Amino acid sequence: MGGTPIPNDIKLLDENGKRVDGRRPDEMRPIKIEAGVLNKADGSAYVEWGLNKVLAAVYGPRECHPRHLQNTTRALVQCHYNMAAFSVDDRKRPGPDRRSHEISKITSEALTHVVFTEYFPRTSIDVYIEVLQANAGTRCAGLTAASVALADAGVPMRDLVASCAAGKAADTVMVDLGKEEDNFGQADVPVGYVPRTEEIVLLQMDGELTHDEYTLSLKMAIEGCKKVYEEQRNALKRRYQVRSVDAVEEPKGVA
Ligand code: UDP
Repeated sequence: MGGTPIPNDIKLLDENGKRVDGRRPDEMRPIKIEAGVLNKADGSAYVEWGLNKVLAAVYGPRECHPRHLQNTTRALVQCHYNMAAFSVDDRKRPGPDRRSHEISKITSEALTHVVFTEYFPRTSIDVYIEVLQANAGTRCAGLTAASVALADAGVPMRDLVASCAAGKAADTVMVDLGKEEDNFGQADVPVGYVPRTEEIVLLQMDGELTHDEYTLSLKMAIEGCKKVYEEQRNALKRRYQVRSVDAVEEPKGVA
């Protein structure tokens, strides 16, 4: 981001105003969300967002370990973000690093804002985010998946957190930066947004923007979050409808 020379064969914006992957500046990558994909977790979700593939699993609320972390008045939301070794072209060295610690922390903080943590003193709500394939924007995909997984686990929340980034590449403000735009672009602004209360629970900025560019990036990212929110809700509705049909089905073999 910022300063990395662009290879000659990459044109971040062509003469028709189209991006590397053919998108317009205000166009997001396709997004697909599925809730309840893992049987062993209390809640789970899978997100495919462009070429990103992210899985989230939730356990809890359960007794908080180690005990010295317990809070007597509320639950701890503890996120663990991990990028699989095979998630990127150059094998990623397995295990936690500075970046994964940072993303785990900001994701935990964003979700703590929406979970009714005061209902579950002394407990921990553990959220595992596994990036299976990465192509820029994995923190947004991870937060989006984690939020659906929490809802799937039945954890009481004020609302879902929807997440999307915007930024600047080829001197143009654009939404949902892809890998080349992230690598060779000028700025990236990931946002976590709570649509019902209009709160921003995650805001970061990598690179440099003028005040106007920042304002436009934030606006575009929030518009993106609103689209993501619709997909999150649809995923949960699909999951709930399947369950309710199962629940009312007549028992078989009864005369
Ligand atoms: N990336 C990588 N190796 C790493 C970390 C990141 O190849 O060790 C790639 C990956 O595709 C990631 C992108 O760089 O999605 C951008 O990373 P960034 O730190 O900006 O976070 P993200 O945009 O994924 O939230």
